[in-house]
Amino acid sequence: MIIYSLNIIFIINVYYAQMEYKLKASIKKREEMKMPNPKSGKQTIKCHVLSCKHNSDCGCDLGSISVEPCSSCHSGKAEDESLCGSYECRNC
Ligand code: SF4
Repeated sequence: MIIYSLNIIFIINVYYAQMEYKLKASIKKREEMKMPNPKSGKQTIKCHVLSCKHNSDCGCDLGSISVEPCSSCHSGKAEDESLCGSYECRNC
């Protein structure tokens, strides 16, 4: 009977330890989600699209850009998957 009781106590302790671990992990995840991205709005855009009117010395003059997905292409290659949605032709 004592061994049975000890087993029950052990199982309850393990259960509460697991619950405490999950609760702490959940709290940590929520706190991380509240934190702003420290790089947000501070990226430096290097760009080699010389035909764009916002390009100067292989850098982008805009404060922010919009990167758009290419439509109907899912090759996984960078040149196929995305493009700059803020592009404007320099001489058009
Ligand atoms: S708007 Fe886009 S394409 Fe134009 S310079 Fe900036 S990053 Fe390059």
